This record gives sequence, C-alpha cells and structure tokens, in this order.
Amino acid sequence: MKKQRETNNLGINRSRQKEEIYKFIENKFGPQKRCSRTLLKNKFGLGHEGKNPLPIRNFALLINKCIFSSKGKIISCVKIPLQSACIECDKKYRRARIEASRSVFKDFSNEDIYLHYIKTYGSFKKCSVCKKNLKPKEFGISKSMETGLHNQCLKCSKEYSEAVGNRWIIYSPQGRNQVRLNEDNLIKDPSKDHIWSLSKGGSDNNENIVFMERGPNSSKSNSIPIEIKKPKDLKKTMISKRYWSILDEAIKDSWDIKKLDRALSKAVNDLIKRKSKMTDIELTKFFENEKRENNTKHNIQRAVKKFREYCKNSKSLDF
Ligand SMILES: [Zn+2]
Ligand SMILES: [Zn+2]
Repeated sequence: MKKQRETNNLGINRSRQKEEIYKFIENKFGPQKRCSRTLLKNKFGLGHEGKNPLPIRNFALLINKCIFSSKGKIISCVKIPLQSACIECDKKYRRARIEASRSVFKDFSNEDIYLHYIKTYGSFKKCSVCKKNLKPKEFGISKSMETGLHNQCLKCSKEYSEAVGNRWIIYSPQGRNQVRLNEDNLIKDPSKDHIWSLSKGGSDNNENIVFMERGPNSSKSNSIPIEIKKPKDLKKTMISKRYWSILDEAIKDSWDIKKLDRALSKAVNDLIKRKSKMTDIELTKFFENEKRENNTKHNIQRAVKKFREYCKNSKSLDF
C-alpha cells in the first residue's frame, strides 16, 4: 500500500489559517515580539525603524516550524514560529539585496556574469532541484540574484515548465492555474502542487493548488494527501467538473477514499483513451474548447502534437 503523502502546508496561503496560527502564538508566547534587526544591522546597514517590540502580526510565519493536526489545525510548534526580523525589515532587506545585485551586474554581459561566478564562488554550482554540482553555464542568468544565476539548473527549469504544460495536454484538468504565492511567503524555492493529483481528476482551480518546498519528491507524488480521508473531504472544485457525478455518487454511497481514487483514475484514463481515438480535427476542437472554457493560453497545435507523442511513447496505455 502506498504511504500517504503529508502536506503540512496545505492551504498555506489562506488567511483564515494564518490568523489561527497567530492566535495560537499569541496565547503561547504573548502578543508582541522584538524585531532582531535593532541589535544586528544587516550587511546593507539597514536597521529596524520605529517601535520595537511590535505586534506579532508584523512578523511572517514560519510554517515549517508548526505542527498541524490531520484537519490542518495548528496543535504545536518548534520554538516561536515567526521570522526573527519584522516583515518591514525583511522587505527592505530583500529589496536592498536585489538592487545591490542589479547594480553589480548592470553592465555585465552574460559571459561576464559566468566569469564573475567562477571567480567568486568556484567552478561548480549545486542545483537546488536535482542537487547536482554543475558548471555555471548550466544555469540561467538572473541579475537580481546575488550570484547572478538562478538556483535551479536550465534542465530542471525546462522540465518543470514542460511538465506543467504537458499535464494540461494529457489530463486536461478544468480550471485555470493562476494562483500566485503571497509576497511574504517563506517557502524556500516554492513549487506549485495539486492537492488531488491531475491523474485522478484533480482540477486546476485555486482550491486544489498548494505551494510546497521543492524537493526530490514534490509534485511527482500521486498518493492521496493525508488530510483527505473520505470522499466528502474533497471539495467539488478540487475535481474537474466532468467528474463531479462520480464524486457525488461516492459521497452519497459513502465509498472509501481508495474506491473513489480508483474510479476517478479510471475516468481520467478513459478520457485519455477517448482523446487518443479522435482525429486531429476533433482533438483540435477538444483542446480549443478546453482553452476557451478555462480561459488559458495554451498553444493548441503544440498540444495536439505533444499529445500524439505522449500516446506513442506511453506504454501504460493499452490502445
Ligand atoms: Zn524590523
Ligand atoms: Zn537541476
């Protein structure tokens, strides 16, 4: 049996949950906290300005220090789960860092940036996704980063964006994947993930999208998230509209979650098979319709081509 996936930060960008965590901290540690930037000016010489201590809502939450119940309620934490400097100081610091990097690299050519990297940091850089030590040239240029390079290698960023586009082509989830992470998020190297995976009929609606720290297992997992124990734990909008009748039946007849999982996976496979039997004209119409209904920006010609490639290469599908 597959182990259930833990998504501790399920719904991380929802203000209701944030408020709950602040209340928890307030009860446990009190309503105020000192910003650490008074004692310790950072390397840009910026210190905290104004009142100190401050209300705890002026500090960003450290979600990964919180321990949640299976229902997503905070039950405990490791130390005080707040950033040590206040949000205002953090913003100022980030802005200063970006500006400093931009002014360093202002007149640099790409070649200059790679040379600068080698001189300053050495001949290799570790990719934050695949964790391989690679030559600097295998990373894209980013003048707002301190190193001048992205943290993720070119191959990994290409794979990631292709994977996102290709999932739409294969599974055709309904909804529009347009959630952005709040600016004050604290997830290092965030990646978007679907709570209920697309291969099981998950939608691209906001309710089905979370942000996770990118790791070797993020976004590749197809397992059932631990928070979802019964069909009725799934919100309708987490599933593509075309599968709602299956979910209705599962709730009405109290299926266990595994049975729903199988039924939805089968329905998704049936859709893929149906698409594979369409002519190019029919498939184009199908994608155009999906694009219009969900207001997305996909390239339809590419979608048809990629879908045919997928069918040809897919050994798991029995056509
Ligand atoms: Zn401060
Ligand atoms: Zn990589």
